[in-house]
Amino acid sequence: MGGETVRCHLCPHRCAIKADNTGICGARSNAGGVLFADTYGRVTSIAMDPIEKKPLYHFHPGTRILSIGSAGCNMKCPFCQNWSISQKKDAMTEYYPPEDMVSLAVENGSIGVAYTYNEPIIWAEYVLDTSAIAVEKGLVNVMVSNGYVEPGPLGELLRTVDGFNIDLKSFNESTYRKVMKAGLAEVKKTIEKIYEASRHVEVTTLIVTGINDTMDEMRAIIKYLSSISRSIPWHISRYYPNYKYGERATDTEFIFRVREQALEQLDFVYCGNVPAESGGNDTRCPGCGSVAIKRMGYSTRLENYDNGRCSHCGRQLNVVT
Ligand code: SF4
Repeated sequence: MGGETVRCHLCPHRCAIKADNTGICGARSNAGGVLFADTYGRVTSIAMDPIEKKPLYHFHPGTRILSIGSAGCNMKCPFCQNWSISQKKDAMTEYYPPEDMVSLAVENGSIGVAYTYNEPIIWAEYVLDTSAIAVEKGLVNVMVSNGYVEPGPLGELLRTVDGFNIDLKSFNESTYRKVMKAGLAEVKKTIEKIYEASRHVEVTTLIVTGINDTMDEMRAIIKYLSSISRSIPWHISRYYPNYKYGERATDTEFIFRVREQALEQLDFVYCGNVPAESGGNDTRCPGCGSVAIKRMGYSTRLENYDNGRCSHCGRQLNVVT
């Protein structure tokens, strides 16, 4: 029966995978009529990172987290900033069983495990196994994801993953279809479902020259996020030419203008990949304007901040501590 096609139900591509082939993500294959998770436990990148690097600015600020990634991706962005592991078939890997990964997190004094670098949805079984053990040990789990996942697997992940940063790459369905080879509607559903499940969520938009760098599109994203909650942290990040896309880096002035607009409807807006001295990375209290958390690069200083609140006026800052 080795010629049977198998279907993967993990993400909305729902690949029908022929014998000896892999799905669109390159991480799941048809091995003799059985769907096989090729990258289970196969790690390409591992590091103790500041949690701010994910980026997660409202989740245990100032801590470090064991961050791991594998290979492959279910999107095909030509400007991918991590293409050497997400889009290359022969990335070098090392196997770490889930128990060993959690032990490593404990030994390194990590707050938990971050599934990041490439798209973690496509090794969901490994995330589920590792995160369950991490929870038993009193650690947290976070995912940095493109959000292109089916509701069923997302529901399972929501049981053990505490915090998410989801990429919202565009607010145009046709850009998602043509450029990322995926879909906007499904990503929006993921953001909404995480929020409804009361898990922590931050959103990142890489502003890419010629792809999404219009104020109309940015306004649409701002309107959408604020319709969920004005306290969702939004990271707008500067793109640099990479992989198959050579347009010039994003105009920083445009990024600052977007931030200014966004702050009318969102409480926390941050600028990534821009000079630290611009102040676009500090958390200001939306109530009294005090700098609650000061950031310079990946150095974080808690200033007018006390246990998730502004210590100056007492306002909640939507921070998980
Ligand atoms: S996870 Fe991979 S194999 Fe499964 S449906 Fe998505 S792209 Fe296809």
